[in-house]
Amino acid sequence: MSQIQENIRHLISSLTETPCQLVAISKTKPVSDIMDAYEAGQRHFGENKVQELAAKYEELPKDIKWHMVGHLQRNKVKYIAPFVHLIHSIDSLKLLKEVNKQAEKAGRTIDCLLQVHIAEESTKFGFGPEELTPLVQSDALQSLEHVRVVGLMGMATFTEDESQIKREFSSLHTLFEQLKSIQLPDNVKMQELSMGMSGDYPLALACGSTMIRVGSSIFGARNYA
Ligand SMILES: *Cc1c(COP(=O)(O)O)cnc(C)c1O
Repeated sequence: MSQIQENIRHLISSLTETPCQLVAISKTKPVSDIMDAYEAGQRHFGENKVQELAAKYEELPKDIKWHMVGHLQRNKVKYIAPFVHLIHSIDSLKLLKEVNKQAEKAGRTIDCLLQVHIAEESTKFGFGPEELTPLVQSDALQSLEHVRVVGLMGMATFTEDESQIKREFSSLHTLFEQLKSIQLPDNVKMQELSMGMSGDYPLALACGSTMIRVGSSIFGARNYA
């Protein structure tokens, strides 16, 4: 068994208590590494760049479920709309409208998560917690027939402070539960809570994550050189 396969097996065995989807984040890694994970049974993979995602989709087996987890520019949605399984990084209504338009062109409906800004550190992307309820109840969102909002995604602050990370994940979980409890249109279903990466996924699982996005703990450190 390869190192990648051992890492996956180890991760999956640690997920048995809480049912949770493992998305293997393969950004910067070669297709041979993805095939290694694929042969161990892994089918959900995620990338953060449109070009890399589209290129890997072309090259790899078609039963792979591809997740877009990085910031998505509206003018690039068309390149992934025909095949993407789940977009985690919806951070504006404008982007969601473009996904709807390209999904319609591709003759499909695309599942999306709303990215929420939960980190106490300042970051550029994601909705503020107070924006979510008005958004999911808006006529504008309800009229989008080719997207389905299936949950939320968030990233905690990159810190050693576990209590801070827990606080941030818990706040996202609370938002998720709040949204579940209100009246939602047919194209919004609060089912997935995407939170947790290599450094913090055990904390995310403890806080109710249903989907973790793990890269370096599977494929090893990334080399951006
Ligand atoms: C890179 C990335 C991950 C995975 O990060 P690791 O620390 O390598 O597990 C998860 N989510 C997003 C949005 C990413 O860009």
